[in-house]
Amino acid sequence: MEGDASMHGETTLLDELGIAHAVLRLVRDGAGEVRRASLLACSRAFSDQTSLTTHTGDRFLREAFGVGARTALAQFVDAARGATHVLSHYYTSSNRWFACYCRPSGDDCLTVVLIDVTGYRSDSALGLQREQAYRSFIEHLPMIAILRVTAPQPVSLFSAGSFREITGYGPEKGSSPESWLEIVHPDDRENVRREALMLVSEPQHESEMEYRIVRRDGNVRWVRSYERQFTSDDGTMQIVQGLILDVTDRKRKEEELREANDRIQEQNQLLGRLARTDALTGLLNRRAMQEQLERELRLLSRGRAGFSILLVDLDDFKGVNDRYGHRAGDRVLIHLAETLERHLRGSDVRSRWGGEEFMVLFTETSGEAALNVADKLRIWFAEHPTEVDGQTLPVTFTGGLVEATAKDTVDALFARADAALYQGKNAGRNRIVGILTTGATIEAPDPARGRRRPV
Ligand code: GH3
Ligand code: MG
Ligand code: MG
Repeated sequence: MEGDASMHGETTLLDELGIAHAVLRLVRDGAGEVRRASLLACSRAFSDQTSLTTHTGDRFLREAFGVGARTALAQFVDAARGATHVLSHYYTSSNRWFACYCRPSGDDCLTVVLIDVTGYRSDSALGLQREQAYRSFIEHLPMIAILRVTAPQPVSLFSAGSFREITGYGPEKGSSPESWLEIVHPDDRENVRREALMLVSEPQHESEMEYRIVRRDGNVRWVRSYERQFTSDDGTMQIVQGLILDVTDRKRKEEELREANDRIQEQNQLLGRLARTDALTGLLNRRAMQEQLERELRLLSRGRAGFSILLVDLDDFKGVNDRYGHRAGDRVLIHLAETLERHLRGSDVRSRWGGEEFMVLFTETSGEAALNVADKLRIWFAEHPTEVDGQTLPVTFTGGLVEATAKDTVDALFARADAALYQGKNAGRNRIVGILTTGATIEAPDPARGRRRPV
């Protein structure tokens, strides 16, 4: 023992055990107020641990206790009144924390036993701080974080982050794949379930998917999830780690973009159709027909069966317009277009070539066969006049028919058809004149069939 005063008998045991202990005496002023505490006696262990001896006077109070000298003194005074106290003190001189057990021992004296708790305090304080920092970090993530042990025993460690903000539910809904599936949109549930199974069963499996969830308030949100399974460093556990982000806004923008693109595409298709269509009759226009003819000529040059074309021109159409008006003339054009639509094969291509001229392409058809069809058309049209406002408009047409050859161009083909048409007009109209590849001119066997308007 150090110091002048000897310790009580019971302290020898503490000494033997190497436990730091000391005796303090409260020092009062003239008015009886406690002003300081002096170290009356202390064990070697006490000196070793605190670097203080009785010779340091009241320095131990000034510098020893982390709670501050005044507070420490007040605690000692309190303890001296009879209550056993456990105080927590920090000694700057040795940079250590102690649990300080104080017991009154009469005459303003206190027996103090110190237990060094530095390791415990700093570890637990740091541990606590670290845990709080982790928790705060995870809870402030703008996404859902999940961590599960899948083997050897399934244990859900946590689902946190913005769980409530994203789902409207408490994080317990994410505690197991089963409860999470309850939030997943019914249409996406099967996919999510399949991935969840793979995450458990396939080593190192990684999954990345987008699906819908139904929030507690019924709103549907899109989420993107990244999950992976890995083995713990010590090889004893399989762990699934995941992040789930709310991507509803991005999805919505993508959807809007897709819709806008679809609309543009539709409009482009419409424009394309319009560019190829005659507005009055709905038939292909001249440009589209020219393209079609070019295609057919290419096929013909590669050995496909030959085709024929028929150029149709309404007879005395100027007179029709003059007599019945331009609007009535338009109705005749529409009537002729409908006649072509109704009486030709689906594989035959019909078009309005311009003005009161139409062109028909008979695919894989010889001149003779086409002439037959063309003449039936002519007769039908002559026998079924256009009706406009209760009036019937008897109009006929003349046709020039030619067979295409492998060496033809669109212009050459048209020129021949126009020549045949010219012959038909000259021969009295309301007839079909065909010119074969041999140069021979043919007409339907009985051109008198079908009502003819006198020319
Ligand atoms: P031909 O028997 O010799 O063919 O005589 P035509 O009167 O039919 O020939 P012409 O070429 O002299 O006249 C063609 C007429 O077709 C003149 C024009 O006003 C009319 N026409 C052309 N396109 C249209 C149209 O879109 N609507 C109407 N109503 N008439 C048209
Ligand atoms: Mg004409
Ligand atoms: Mg005409």
